[in-house]
Amino acid sequence: MIPETAKRLFASLPNGLDFVLEAPCSTWLQTQAVRAISPYPIILDELAQSEADVFTAGAMGTADGIGLKISKAGGLTPGRRQRDIARAAGMTVSVQDTVGSSIAFSGILQLGATVPDQLLRCVLNCEDMVTIKTATVDATFVDGGVLPGTTPGLGIEVDEAILGTPVATWD
Ligand SMILES: [Mg+2]
Repeated sequence: MIPETAKRLFASLPNGLDFVLEAPCSTWLQTQAVRAISPYPIILDELAQSEADVFTAGAMGTADGIGLKISKAGGLTPGRRQRDIARAAGMTVSVQDTVGSSIAFSGILQLGATVPDQLLRCVLNCEDMVTIKTATVDATFVDGGVLPGTTPGLGIEVDEAILGTPVATWD
């Protein structure tokens, strides 16, 4: 969406509409322009790729939050650094991934559980996006949400038969 489209969109919406605008523009400059006129919270997705991007979003006030996709961040370790940068900037975090297995969902769940309540927008159950279950996830689904169990690590029991023969091993 370009800034002109955003102006026309905002003018056409009813007062008091409660929603969040995710990734309204494909560039930082356009997002900053829309940010300047938007009465609605903005969260970044594809523009927030790196730790520097998350820092920039916080420092420039480009957004109220980010979509923290673990694979987009480069894994759990850089993902938690993005979480911490977002937290320091007071930005909300949606912990998710583009798509993923039960194992990916367990990472999302564990990282999501480390985000303070007021900054956690949601976690995505990407386990529902695929038909093959690669693991059993120790989690409790309650009231539309999910809580991790007490199983150590990622809280999963991997189905090694489903995974098949490893493509690589390290000793
Ligand atoms: Mg998105």
